Amino acid sequence: MLYYSTQDPEYQVSFQEALLTGLAPGGGLYLPQEIPSFTEEDLNLLKGKSLSETAFFVAERFIEDEIPTSVLRKICEEAYDFEVPIKKLEEDGAGVDIRVLELFHGPTLAFKDFAARFMARCVDYFLGEQDVRKTILVATSGDTGGAIGNGFLGMDNVDVNILYPKGGVSPVQEAQLTTMGGNIRAFEVNGSFDDCQRMVKEAFMDEALNEEFDLMSANSINVGRILPQSFYYVWSSLQLDLSEDQYLVYSVPSGNMGNITGAYFAQKMGSPIDHLVVSNNNNHPFVDYLESGEFEAVPSVPTISNAMDIGHPNNYYRIEHLFSGNVDRVRDYFSGYTFDDPQTLAAMQESYNRYGYLMCPHTAVGYLGAKAYLEGVEDDVCMVVAGTAHPAKFSDVVGKAGLSVEIPESLAKALEKEKKSVVISPSLDALSSALMKIV
Ligand SMILES: *Cc1c(COP(=O)(O)O)cnc(C)c1O
Repeated sequence: MLYYSTQDPEYQVSFQEALLTGLAPGGGLYLPQEIPSFTEEDLNLLKGKSLSETAFFVAERFIEDEIPTSVLRKICEEAYDFEVPIKKLEEDGAGVDIRVLELFHGPTLAFKDFAARFMARCVDYFLGEQDVRKTILVATSGDTGGAIGNGFLGMDNVDVNILYPKGGVSPVQEAQLTTMGGNIRAFEVNGSFDDCQRMVKEAFMDEALNEEFDLMSANSINVGRILPQSFYYVWSSLQLDLSEDQYLVYSVPSGNMGNITGAYFAQKMGSPIDHLVVSNNNNHPFVDYLESGEFEAVPSVPTISNAMDIGHPNNYYRIEHLFSGNVDRVRDYFSGYTFDDPQTLAAMQESYNRYGYLMCPHTAVGYLGAKAYLEGVEDDVCMVVAGTAHPAKFSDVVGKAGLSVEIPESLAKALEKEKKSVVISPSLDALSSALMKIV
């Protein structure tokens, strides 16, 4: 399978190249030449499979013989060795038809682990014994940095440089991304997440930097992030025993839209998914686009669901391309809703008081989107909210909601370690000189 650039569909590369660079020349995003489709037989077969087996089945369609079968199987087994519960919200024993797909039981307690662990192992395979050294640049609004760092920690031929907005991530997130040490470095940028993301994009366009470093992006501009984010949608959609006339809808708390693009891939492949809900916080350029038909990037504003504080969602450009810019067709697949911080806190309280279920603020935005969608339809809907992070990662926000959460041991350990970061101003120059200094 070849991967083409959204900016120049004639420009096509292997999966290896798309993964190891991340961004196509000129800033285009890679997309697979075709999204494979499942046959009836495939779907029946997949119903009985575990998540890691499903991941292998799907990954093989996209990667084909670029990674030998036995290696790819092992990559999936190792990457997905944690549980992925699907919890039904129950009120005094009576279920409402909302479930939470808990994607936060990996090592850094957010769904970013799914992609990070898969990517790291694929990169490791491709680099093999080659005498090259990759430099990963990754901008994080909170969770990506920790997951990518954790995924690549200890790899000999990869350095990871994490850019995060100073003061813009939760204390637990900051501890996770500044205490790994080894081949993982953290840059604390005096600016917003959008600044971090822009600096990474500019670095890829900068000749001098590219001459000095073999750069790779690990943000969701990398198609290697999107593919593994389809695995758990394929898998979970086949675990739910839907009746004939039931619709399956996922509500995905969204920022850069990498997660929901994975869900769209799963739907396109033929998983029994009927519709997708984009749930945004006060940063909502995509929901505005669904309403007005015009996409406009806006400066991000800080919220309590900080991993979604994104004013310029990268993956909009994939969606635009996949739908040939036809917003009416986009609306057939996606609905969108936005919620502010007070609504988010109230949703966390409601979920806890009604169902005894504690949500992180992002998942709470997804829960609100699920409810908003359900209000507008009469169909029999099985609604699944993507639970994107463990509430303990946002214990400060949980406290604001008047609730409390126990900190798991792995997080407590990170909080005790010494923070190591380099503060830089929000410019490419500052990033370049910080990188050069390390060499
Ligand atoms: C990254 C993240 C999101 C947003 O995901 P996108 O793929 O950027 O849309 C939502 N919730 C949490 C907890 C995250 O870490």
